[in-house]
Order: sequence, then structure tokens, then C-alpha cells
Amino acid sequence: MRRPLIAGNWKMHLTIPAARALAAAVAKAAENVADRDVLIAPPFTSLPAVREAAGNRLLLAGQNVCWEEQGAFTGEIAPGMLKELGCTMAIVGHSERRQLFGETNSLINRRVAGALKFGLIPILCIGETLAEREAGTTFAVLETQLKQGLAGITLTAAAQLVVAYEPVWAIGTGRTATAAQAQEVHAYLRQTLAALFEKNIAGQMRILYGGSVNPANVDELMRQADVDGALVGGAALKVESFERIIHFQ
Ligand code: PEP
Repeated sequence: MRRPLIAGNWKMHLTIPAARALAAAVAKAAENVADRDVLIAPPFTSLPAVREAAGNRLLLAGQNVCWEEQGAFTGEIAPGMLKELGCTMAIVGHSERRQLFGETNSLINRRVAGALKFGLIPILCIGETLAEREAGTTFAVLETQLKQGLAGITLTAAAQLVVAYEPVWAIGTGRTATAAQAQEVHAYLRQTLAALFEKNIAGQMRILYGGSVNPANVDELMRQADVDGALVGGAALKVESFERIIHFQ
């Protein structure tokens, strides 16, 4: 059984006081759901306040992570620095990193490997653009992102990995993949992961769906056999909507 994971990516939003207030409200909203993990990924600067406000109910993640322990890497954040602030996970390869900051599969692979080396669980984001979907290359694009992003990762490490399928055309657009589209891709990803690692390892890996998840579509998405959770952007910034998503039925 894979434990569901609902993750909120706050991106570059919220001041420290606002982050503190939202984290406290989300922790309260998650109090009476014990059968699922709830995670938030605030901006780095809010992590200490969020940790303090959220207590232990919420998992924390960095929105990115470097592969090195320390050194001359201006603008980067080391795995140990995130762990020091209570993070157990890190988002890696988000489409905004790929599209706006030129992150490639090989760079993302270094981040995945670095996170694992220093004891953080990477949430590897992959997804096709609208042009790629319309050209019929969705599966090929995703396979390349998975293969290159996970190159060199050992079987033991792979079992704890989280993959997030986020079609680029659905992020922040209000346009969600249908539950059937999500399930089709998730099943394909699990099959690809089984080929890369082992079937039982792929069976343990959580695959999240991301892209305009909201209170109205979360239940149907979460009912799909291979959808193990959600990575939520916009709807994670308001406690009312995120609370409903956490409480998916
Ligand atoms: C995201 O940024 O990962 C995301 C899925 O955003 P949104 O929910 O706003 O589409």
C-alpha cells in the first residue's frame, strides 16, 4: 500500500508572517487525517517560521536542492541546510526550473543524486508541454525525463523516491488533465519505473499528479489506481482550498 502524499508548493509567495499563519492553519487542517502525508514547500526564507508554526504534523520540503554539501554555488541551497531546517524532501526538476531557468535532465539528475546522497527524498517533477502532447510525444518525453533524471540511482534509493507528473499545460492554467489522462500516464510511468528498477520497487514508489489540482477535481484524481497524491500550487496558498484537498475522499 502506498501512503497518499498531498504536497503544497508555495513557490515564490508569502512573507514570513503570512507563511507562519498559513502553516499553522494547514497543520490544524491536517490534524485529523492520519492516513496520509501532508507536505509543504515554502520559500527557503520561511522554513524556520513554518517549522515552528506547523509542529510535527506536516512534512517540509525545499523547492530545489544542490548536489554539493557546501561550496561556491551562489544562489543554491545545500541538502544539509534544508535538513537543518526540518526538511525531509526536496522538489527537483519543477517545470518552472526547466523552462525559466534552463535546468536540463542531466543537471536535475545531479540534484536527485545529491539529495539522496545527503538523506533527502527528491520529488522528481516531469511533464510534457502542450506542443509535445499535441505532437503525440508525451510518453517519449516522459520516458527520457525519467531515464535521464534517475540515471545511476540505486534500487534501494529508488524505493523512497517520489515522482510528480505535472503536464506543463496544466500548471497554473486552470486546465487539469482528466482523471483518465492522469491514470493513463501514471500507469505508463510505473511500468517505465519497473523496467528501470524492479516491479516491486516501482510498486512502492509514489507518483503524484500536479497541474491545477483543486477541491473540485481532487477526489476523482485520487480515485485513480496509480495516482498516489497531488502536488498543488495555487490551491495550496489558501487554507480553505488546501484543507479540502488534504481531505480528499
Ligand atoms: C505546481 O506548481 O507544481 C502546480 C501544480 O501548480 P498549480 O497547482 O497552480 O497548477
